[in-house]
Amino acid sequence: MSSFNFDVITLFPKAFELINNLGVITRALDKNLIDVNLYDLREYGEGSYRQVDDKPYGGGAGMVLKPEPIYKAYELIRKSPKSKTLLMTPQGKVLKQKDLSRWSTLDQIIIICGQYEGFDERIRCLADEEISIGDYVLSGGEIPAISIINGLTRLLPGTLGDPESLVNESHNSSLLEYPQYTRPLTFKDMKVPDILVSGNHEEIKSWRKRKSFERTLERRSDLILNENYKKSPQSKTKIKESNQFMKLRVNNEFDVYPDW
Ligand code: SAH
Repeated sequence: MSSFNFDVITLFPKAFELINNLGVITRALDKNLIDVNLYDLREYGEGSYRQVDDKPYGGGAGMVLKPEPIYKAYELIRKSPKSKTLLMTPQGKVLKQKDLSRWSTLDQIIIICGQYEGFDERIRCLADEEISIGDYVLSGGEIPAISIINGLTRLLPGTLGDPESLVNESHNSSLLEYPQYTRPLTFKDMKVPDILVSGNHEEIKSWRKRKSFERTLERRSDLILNENYKKSPQSKTKIKESNQFMKLRVNNEFDVYPDW
């Protein structure tokens, strides 16, 4: 028995073969940290044709997944008391890192994948949460489901070789990660910033913190300035610091990276 179970209802179970080739995620499967159980919607289809979809009432383009097969599959899944059911839909709440952390304390996630033009509205009441992986439309819920399995699994104890790598990474604290370098020291005339080879750990730490702020301000100021963040206890000092960076960014060293 694995410590975390993903139970996925899908019309395309083969799409999940990708999980067998995903590095640390595959290792988590091999180490029994997770289990991915697939429920092939076709097997629960109606009649001799195993029908899973039908035309929408009222007319309109495309086909819609019927409710009965999804309910049949769903009712078969053994639910743990620490379980949540997620419905993949571009109409859902946009997935955030904090959702993955929140779910990582459960021991089961049930995922329902839509297809074609979507699913019968009566599917919605099975879900605890409706999740979108971004403001765009894919052909099915399989890639969104794999994204959730991937993102959540790497948070589970034992998955990553060095759990420290989760601490400073992007989206963990409303900030994007600082720039990272590895060998060689100089590549195509681009040099690793001197500070990173200085051996001064305190200075490296504050350089990284600073770069993290700058990067977030440049690329995703919404993460720092969003309403939730403003309300958080550490926000006052951070917003004050970020305002200073805003000023500093005009025509100064942070714009030109003189040590490169
Ligand atoms: N006609 C629907 C979209 C159907 S896309 C609408 O306008 O809402 C088909 C299926 O792909 C969806 O039911 C959903 O399961 C999945 N899907 C597509 N884009 C998605 C996204 N951004 N996030 C999560 N699931 C998505």
